[in-house]
Amino acid sequence: MYDVERVRADFPILSREVNGKPLTYLDNGASAQKPQCVIDAVTHAYSHEYANVHRGLHYLSNLATEKYEAVRGIVARFLGARDEREIVFTSGTTEAINLVSYGWAAPRMEPGDEIVLSVMEHHANIVPWHFLRERQGVVLKWVDVDATGALDPQKLIDAIGPRTKLVAITHVSNVLGTVVDVKAVCDAAREKGVPVLVDGSQGAVHLPVDVEEIGCDFYAVTGHKLYGPSGSGAIFIRRERMEEMRPFIGGGDMIREVSRDEVIYNDPPMKFEAGTPGIVQQIGMGVALEYLMTLGMENVAAHEADIAAYASERLKGLNWLGLQGTAPGKAAIFSFTMEGAAHAHDISTILDKKGVAVRAGHHCANPLMDHLGVSATCRASFGLYNTREEVDRLIEALELAHDLLG
Ligand code: PMP
Repeated sequence: MYDVERVRADFPILSREVNGKPLTYLDNGASAQKPQCVIDAVTHAYSHEYANVHRGLHYLSNLATEKYEAVRGIVARFLGARDEREIVFTSGTTEAINLVSYGWAAPRMEPGDEIVLSVMEHHANIVPWHFLRERQGVVLKWVDVDATGALDPQKLIDAIGPRTKLVAITHVSNVLGTVVDVKAVCDAAREKGVPVLVDGSQGAVHLPVDVEEIGCDFYAVTGHKLYGPSGSGAIFIRRERMEEMRPFIGGGDMIREVSRDEVIYNDPPMKFEAGTPGIVQQIGMGVALEYLMTLGMENVAAHEADIAAYASERLKGLNWLGLQGTAPGKAAIFSFTMEGAAHAHDISTILDKKGVAVRAGHHCANPLMDHLGVSATCRASFGLYNTREEVDRLIEALELAHDLLG
């Protein structure tokens, strides 16, 4: 039985007040709060177990290396990867997707080759592909969502043509909460011999993920949304793809030998991890993922589905609210505009006075904003510790905003 009050007690920040009101933290899509076990692990690592990793012949360096490297196995378990050598550490999803763009895509794309992506991608899954368009003449093929914000996997599959070299698609939209049937996309793409990159920044937070079941080639996650430290993250890269990749960032750690005339790279995954990494951040992410696995991602997903259903029903009751994204089975992420309100920022400022933290803006998803015909939305994004009572507080604060602005 998922006991949300017990879960809340693990997150010290949730008991604070903001503007004299209990904090209602609904900005999890941007970054999630941290449980005490993650905070303790970070403090413990710096207090007792810190040194640089991989190069030491001393006790602390070996200890830090052991703790850090153990996280690779934890990520593999969390994502359902068969081999921890298919996990590359990154500073987050942004770096992960850039790694794929520079390391895998750039060397094999000719002018006129295509990348298929959806209109609801985050800029982190757009701009690295625009680099290839600008520099190498790669063509970006966009697939639209329907009026509810749903993405028909068949439309993506139909967009795959003879020149398509990659499909790059989010698992869950950070704006609409739409869940994409990435397995259907991967199954069809594999038959056509086209690799698929899944941006799992939001997906892995809200749903159980098994990369083998999905059948993707790349799956990127970011630690700070997974209740871990910022600056942590990882990407699953299927063995065959990793073997095809050239390194992206050069420097220490990713080499075996360097001379005046040549460089011999380290074996993957280290080949793709240059320089001193976010040692303690990754150790903290490992603890966060263990925490999630102890709660059980199925249980987290079921709790959030209940919150999503309740929030959908209550938000739909506000007939002056322009709710964006009503696709069935969506994650607990809600974007909206308000009749009469000058700007989403005005709404969020009033909500903040009530202790309700939401985000306003374009959410790094400008092509989606264009598609929706809005310049900005207000977004309430829920996490594993949010409650129905917090949905009620959001609704109350929105009613106040409507009274003041509408
Ligand atoms: N993709 C999606 C869908 C996201 O929501 C985000 C974070 N807002 C990112 C990519 C980028 O993640 P990060 O900034 O942690 O690299």
